[in-house]
Amino acid sequence: MTAVSRRRLLGTGALTAAAGAAMAASPAAASARGRAAAASADVVVVGAGLSGLTAARDLVAAGRSVIVLEARDRPGGRVYGLPLGDGTTSEGGAEFIGPTQDRIAALTADMGVATFPTHNAGKNVYYRNGKRSLYATDGILGAVPPDWGVVDLQIALTSLNSMAKEVPVGEPWKAAKAEEWDSQTFHTWSRTHSLSSGARFLMDAFVSSTLSVRSRDVSLLYVLHYIAAAGNAGSPGNVDRLINTKGGAQETRFAGGSEQVPIRLAARLGDRVRYNAPVRSVVTGDGGVTVTADGITVTARRVVVAMSPAIAGKIEFTPGLPASRAQLMQRYPMGSIAKFVAVYETPFWRADGLTGQAVSDSGAIDATFDNSPADGSRGILMGFLNQTNIRRLDAAPPEQVRAAGLDAFGKLFGSKALSPVRTAFQRWDNEVWSGGGPVGIAPPGVLSDFGTALRAPCGPVHWAGTETSDFWTGYMDGAVRSGERVAREVHAAL
Ligand SMILES: Cc1cc2nc3c(=O)[nH]c(=O)nc-3n(C[C@H](O)[C@H](O)[C@H](O)COP(=O)(O)OP(=O)(O)OC[C@H]3O[C@@H](n4cnc5c(N)ncnc54)[C@H](O)[C@@H]3O)c2cc1C
Repeated sequence: MTAVSRRRLLGTGALTAAAGAAMAASPAAASARGRAAAASADVVVVGAGLSGLTAARDLVAAGRSVIVLEARDRPGGRVYGLPLGDGTTSEGGAEFIGPTQDRIAALTADMGVATFPTHNAGKNVYYRNGKRSLYATDGILGAVPPDWGVVDLQIALTSLNSMAKEVPVGEPWKAAKAEEWDSQTFHTWSRTHSLSSGARFLMDAFVSSTLSVRSRDVSLLYVLHYIAAAGNAGSPGNVDRLINTKGGAQETRFAGGSEQVPIRLAARLGDRVRYNAPVRSVVTGDGGVTVTADGITVTARRVVVAMSPAIAGKIEFTPGLPASRAQLMQRYPMGSIAKFVAVYETPFWRADGLTGQAVSDSGAIDATFDNSPADGSRGILMGFLNQTNIRRLDAAPPEQVRAAGLDAFGKLFGSKALSPVRTAFQRWDNEVWSGGGPVGIAPPGVLSDFGTALRAPCGPVHWAGTETSDFWTGYMDGAVRSGERVAREVHAAL
């Protein structure tokens, strides 16, 4: 049956069915009969990450019928509770929120999920050139570790903040100097604006800790926009808000784990959300779309594709998308990131006067945080493996990853770190439905030449995902903002 005839068979009346009455067939019943289920709705949302779920929430609230198709067997996408093997979880993906991230904060409150401050009392650890040192973060440098290059670094960071002010949030390609800034990598700029090896190391660490790519991989314009986007309409973005715990994007955590937010939001949407339904194709025609996933085909008037451009590129669109969008999806790669987690009977580093936060230039882990629960009833250390470290461990068996992770924790926090109760590990670069993380990035030239295709609808195909956000692109807040924006866009178009 062709897409068009299938939709005609279902009839247009079903397309305007009231919210809550979206289901036209049971996939379980259909698969029992050995064929795909068929359903229809006003809007089909592809992806049950925060962006897709938020879009669905708002469209349902506006009276539209919605079906969400999710490839995985769970909601949340890059927000994920990593099982620790004892019935509990620790965040394997997104974890922190901070000031000016108003939309994720509002959603969190609406879902009834409590928050608490990230543990930040004590000193941070800085490990560089084989030397471990401790530093306080309440001085004028904030989270920036003291290094020989720190004056150099401060001058460069001041320049970055002032350049970022010239980048229109959500439309970096409109910056007066877009051509110049998008014709170089962040590495090129940082080498000409910082002379000391310490400053260069910290500039690279800034990019790898926020984007999990090397500074040579990413456009200067993209980084400037990332800085500009780290705020809201009332507070322009700046570097401090990206890197700081207190007053920055790492300030706050979620009781019970960040995954509680998408889990509860998906539960509110009920059986509108279909899991284990990877969308393979979107066919546009006859005033609507036919979206085919494993086990179910949905006809709708509009489709929202709510994921990173790179992962959207796995879907086959017929007729083909405009070249600008098709090529954008080829040019917006994901960063490479993983998290290693170790559980201890107590957060022993706190007694040693440490925050649990560290920056390191060697070993498997380059940055750490205290992931213990709010009541400190047990200790959890989390270490990020940036792009370089995770690639080194690409083919490593689990016991080698575990040994490398513990070795790094031991170097940063002492011998007690070598004897955890248990460990867990989550890498994102080999996750089929994420392809990496935390965010898609733009190499030079992409924002200037293809940036407008990030959000521009292609007929009845609309785009969401944190990568399409104006403020806090790359973050949960950006995902929520993008879902809210696309819901308004689709509702107005229907
Ligand atoms: C390790 C890590 C740490 C992070 N830390 C933070 C943090 O501390 N704070 C913060 O704010 N952000 C953080 N982020 C970023 C944050 O997770 C993302 O910005 C946000 O979750 C993106 O949401 P999204 O809805 O845009 O995309 P996603 O979460 O990627 O959702 C897309 C969904 O689409 C599904 N999908 C993909 N293809 C298909 C298909 N063909 N058919 C059906 N479904 C499909 C996916 O399974 C997924 O559920 C982190 C990310 C990672 C990976």
